[in-house]
Amino acid sequence: MKYICRKCNYRSSTREGKDLPFRCPYCGTEGTLQHEQSSSDLLDEFTGED
Ligand SMILES: [Zn+2]
Repeated sequence: MKYICRKCNYRSSTREGKDLPFRCPYCGTEGTLQHEQSSSDLLDEFTGED
């Protein structure tokens, strides 16, 4: 199950059935992780900037 950090856009995934980590493993912020949309269009937006 994929998730993304709304603060730093870090993406990772957990095994099916596991909860999301409480804090982002990248930036360490608590409560910013959410399940990622399955749309590939969103992925392109996240990676296309910068
Ligand atoms: Zn983060």
